[in-house]
Amino acid sequence: MNHERSRALYDRALSVTPGGVNSSVRATMPHPFFIERGDGGHVIDADGNRYVDWAMGYGPLLYGHDVPEPVEAAIQSTVSEGPMYGAPTEIEVEHAEFVARHVPSVEQIRFVNSGTEATVSAVRLARGYTGRDKIVVMQGGYHGAQESTLVEGAAGDASPSTAGIPEEFAQHTLPIPFNDPEAAHEVFEEHGDDIAGVLVEPILANKGIVEPVDGYHETLRDLCDDHGSLLVFDEVITGFRVGGLQCAQGKFGVTPDVTTFGKIVGGGFPVGAIGGKAEIIEQFTPSGNVFQSGTFSGHPVTMAAGHEYLKYAAKHDVYEHVNDLGQRLRDGIRDICEDQAPEYTVVGTDSLFKTVFTRDGERPKNGADVARADTERWERVFWQEMKDRGIFLTANQFESQFVSYAHTEEDVEETLDAYAESI
Ligand SMILES: *Cc1c(COP(=O)(O)O)cnc(C)c1O
Repeated sequence: MNHERSRALYDRALSVTPGGVNSSVRATMPHPFFIERGDGGHVIDADGNRYVDWAMGYGPLLYGHDVPEPVEAAIQSTVSEGPMYGAPTEIEVEHAEFVARHVPSVEQIRFVNSGTEATVSAVRLARGYTGRDKIVVMQGGYHGAQESTLVEGAAGDASPSTAGIPEEFAQHTLPIPFNDPEAAHEVFEEHGDDIAGVLVEPILANKGIVEPVDGYHETLRDLCDDHGSLLVFDEVITGFRVGGLQCAQGKFGVTPDVTTFGKIVGGGFPVGAIGGKAEIIEQFTPSGNVFQSGTFSGHPVTMAAGHEYLKYAAKHDVYEHVNDLGQRLRDGIRDICEDQAPEYTVVGTDSLFKTVFTRDGERPKNGADVARADTERWERVFWQEMKDRGIFLTANQFESQFVSYAHTEEDVEETLDAYAESI
């Protein structure tokens, strides 16, 4: 496989951008391939190499790279009318109505421009609404590049996980292990009166994919109710992917007070959103006193793309298709692992899939279990083996992979063949 142009582009990029990329996860080794264009479930790189794409923009691209005709038409006409205004448009209202109609927890919603912005605003909202400072998060959970959640360590002993964040931020964040009801009870026993909210991904999907054990989210729901804290589901990845249009909260039957969205809800354009009970969401300015604002928020092109995305999914077999291929991938990879690497674990649900290079074949229950896997192998060996066979996976052991409506059974077969040779 020739990578001459990608290498030359990366060389140029290194001179003018830190690490040669605009998001750290993209800096694959020894250098990333630069994308020229997408084609259905595939991408073609700058040297003309073709790959089956399971990274799918790290989550947003429910339809792959060729969007259905109504989505394309809505994007084109919105752009041609003028991209944005700084005044409200009808499409924002329609998109908000659609989300409120389908997602159990959402009565009102505020659209923003990234998942990070959504979780930053949700944390501020929880603090403003309750008048408390502390936020409970899961070890190994991910909520974007925000000050309050980039922490490591345990409740009462957390510190920032990156340079550039004052220690004081971490003092207000209480990380606990996912799927451990006892740890949740303990943190509420100790800090209950100071806890503004629990911020949790319904499925950890940025740490190898860890699903909740039965009853875990119900425990969090009860603890929040008992202590007057808000339960905040970060559905930036799971929203409109797991559980279809009801999202993961519908699938699990647990209704949070607040939900953060991103990725799919913007139809492939930059997006985030914070939804929930009207009484809570109304605390945002201008109806309330928790400041929230954004030049590009509710961007008409994003709203049009996101709205047509979801409307199309409501009328077609989108979730059946992606979930069915997801199941075939998980089953197929599981068979390969049974033969060739019984210590590995295949994880995921609906249209999410990943193989965790566990050392004992035990299904991970929390972030620490995933961290104990042979994580280096993914980026140093496996990712490249797959890439050389024309399969584009997410760049490290922790990020999920995604099936799109454009993927086919042939893509699955080709991918399973490559897994069998690379695993
Ligand atoms: C991707 C992601 C984010 C951050 O979203 P950005 O748009 O990258 O800022 C936050 N939370 C979860 C669960 C995510 O998967």
